[in-house]
Amino acid sequence: MMKQIQKAADLQAAVSEAKKQNLSIGLVPTMGALHEGHLSLIERALKENDLVVVSLFVNPIQFNNKEDLEKYPRTIEADLALIQKLESSIEKKATGLLAFTPTVDEMYPQGEPKEVYHFGPVEEVMEGPRRPGHFSGVAVVVRRLFDLAQPTRAYFGEKDYQQIAVIRSLLEQIKYPIELVPCPIVRADDGLALSSRNMRLSPAARKMAPAINATLEQAAEMAEFEEVDDVKEWVLDTLASFHEVNECPDDLRFEPEYFEIVDARTLQPIADWDEAGDLGAVGCIAVWLDGVRLIDIVKF
Ligand code: AMP
Repeated sequence: MMKQIQKAADLQAAVSEAKKQNLSIGLVPTMGALHEGHLSLIERALKENDLVVVSLFVNPIQFNNKEDLEKYPRTIEADLALIQKLESSIEKKATGLLAFTPTVDEMYPQGEPKEVYHFGPVEEVMEGPRRPGHFSGVAVVVRRLFDLAQPTRAYFGEKDYQQIAVIRSLLEQIKYPIELVPCPIVRADDGLALSSRNMRLSPAARKMAPAINATLEQAAEMAEFEEVDDVKEWVLDTLASFHEVNECPDDLRFEPEYFEIVDARTLQPIADWDEAGDLGAVGCIAVWLDGVRLIDIVKF
């Protein structure tokens, strides 16, 4: 049975009891507004660990835009119901499930944390320069969650691809023996990567949005016979001109912020397909549509 915990001290007590019994602990950090993408992480954690901690916390210090923070959906009761429903409907290893729903004061009792993390090259590309302070804010909350939940494994979605590289770097810095488990993107039937931001799209924009994934899928096919730079340019041009070619209604258009083809581990742009290392190459995109910033990735 899922148990909701609001106090850090109560989470620590439950974790220390589990540690005494040598139980494995899976942590799934989320900001709530759960959808099938989050649930896939929780399901995997429930299958691989004795105790699962799902955190639901809209972390103010990772938002560099006040309006984005204010507009972020908060649907805690529905979230808890979804987790409970999932727990009762799957085969699992876990015998315990804790939903950790702290307030901001509970998470940051000393006020806004002063710590700042640096990750070097992995944060100097793509999201990093466009969202100053974001990854440091993510690292602060994730480390706090690591300290409270002491997980054996921590589950993160590949939708936030750069975040995974940042957490990998954080683990190297703080030397916690936690296994980072990257999980594949869950998509709607039409290919749009699930995101809590999708609910802010108008119906017409929601109809257009799957073109992001469709364009990336086509790019993956082109990669077999085209140069990196040509694939990059084609993706950006295809999306930027999409509204003209398809006569989109309501003045809707894609405004790509970036599309980069990078080494999947270092996140540094590659100029040639051969430059990609052990994890291969990945294309990462951020694109504005209808006032909503959408991100997605494709593996090459
Ligand atoms: P968020 O609540 O947006 O911070 O996301 C919490 C976790 O769920 C992060 O590790 C995300 O990468 C992951 N996630 C979000 N959307 C998806 C998705 N569509 N598929 C898989 N994982 C996702």
